[in-house]
Amino acid sequence: MADQPPVALPSRAELLEEYDIITDDDIEEIKDALKGGRMADAASKIMENLQALENARLDIAVTGESGSGKSSFVNAIRGLGDEDDGAAPTGVVETTLKPTPYPHPKHPNVTIWDLPGIGTPNFQSNTYLKQVDFCCYDFFILIASERFKSNHARLAQEIQMQGKRFYFVRSKVDWDLEATKKRRPQAYDEEGILQQIRKNCQECLKAENVASPRIFLLSNWELSKYDFMLLEETLERELPSHKRHAFLLALPNISLEILRKKKEALQKQIWKLATVSCGVAAVPIPGLSVACDVAILVKSLSEYRKNFGLDDDSLHKLAEKVNKPVEEIKVVIKSPLAKEISKDVVVKMLTKAGGGALMVAEYFASTVPIFGSLAAGGISFGTTYYMLHSSLNEVAEDAHNVLIKAFESDV
Ligand code: GDP
Ligand code: MG
Repeated sequence: MADQPPVALPSRAELLEEYDIITDDDIEEIKDALKGGRMADAASKIMENLQALENARLDIAVTGESGSGKSSFVNAIRGLGDEDDGAAPTGVVETTLKPTPYPHPKHPNVTIWDLPGIGTPNFQSNTYLKQVDFCCYDFFILIASERFKSNHARLAQEIQMQGKRFYFVRSKVDWDLEATKKRRPQAYDEEGILQQIRKNCQECLKAENVASPRIFLLSNWELSKYDFMLLEETLERELPSHKRHAFLLALPNISLEILRKKKEALQKQIWKLATVSCGVAAVPIPGLSVACDVAILVKSLSEYRKNFGLDDDSLHKLAEKVNKPVEEIKVVIKSPLAKEISKDVVVKMLTKAGGGALMVAEYFASTVPIFGSLAAGGISFGTTYYMLHSSLNEVAEDAHNVLIKAFESDV
């Protein structure tokens, strides 16, 4: 089994698919740079691409009538409870007179905007979009907690005319289900009720001349239920790829499916980081047979921990939400990476990574022609790739177990 790679490595086809986020022009440039042996050029091109991903802005506008649950949605999507620091005020009489930005607590480039309620005397639908500076937003979430009315439909048409996307969200379905359960406990059929709400919303919008509207049902209290994942998938599909990355990482860690997607998004970046690592002058570490850029590793591993909610702040929030002591949740965490990540921790891990790193380097050199020319600096490539790949697996597994532990059988 000596010729087996030490970790589940992607096939060549999968590797090529990972170019997804880079444009064809970029790939050509990287290939060219690598062919000419200009490693530094390739690395700086990739660095530019990574920087662009990291800096991609995403501005999501949340609109709808007063009391429909706009501010609650803003908080839920940022993973905050109504009483957390920086949460949007909810349940109060609407006084929002201008769009209010709420930056994502972990990804400041992602901003959720709480817009003034539509249909209030100060905001009529014909002037609304101008008043809220519609051009700043990537897309609009239009929320209603009862039926969709003509002002929703008019706004949707206006948004569309301006070349922007909108998504209809029907909130508070937990409340509808609860109410029906109380009134008709015998005939209670959750799927049937949801279907009925969906149909009713569609009919209301069709009556207002909105052709084939898509409606997403959700509860701001239980975001992981109902249509939230469907909304997530739709947004993901319809966003440009560099924004998709920012969007995925900013999602609250509320389901195993979201954790899986985050892992996939981060996995796609590993070969780039590894290439950059062998482009910058790899500094040999005393007492180690490997050389790579430790700073890249420290930065990436800290981000993994944050993205998967294994930092202290996130764990405490989660514990509070599920009403359990944080220690009870922490027991399932195995990776040393879940603790503070420092240069020392990384160097210690590197001492164990040598063999695996070498195999990865050889594997890449033999399977992906453009990486063949890296053979010399390849050990640095292999080390970084191997470290990031195995660390990502560890952290993602811990996050998976934490979520299961927190919700027990409820996930
Ligand atoms: P906004 O005026 O559109 O910003 O609405 P808020 O977010 O302030 O919510 C208005 C009221 O509805 C508050 O009392 C919220 O607690 C409640 N609310 C919001 N979303 C939901 C939901 O999904 N389910 C239930 N049951 N109540 C909700
Ligand atoms: Mg509000």
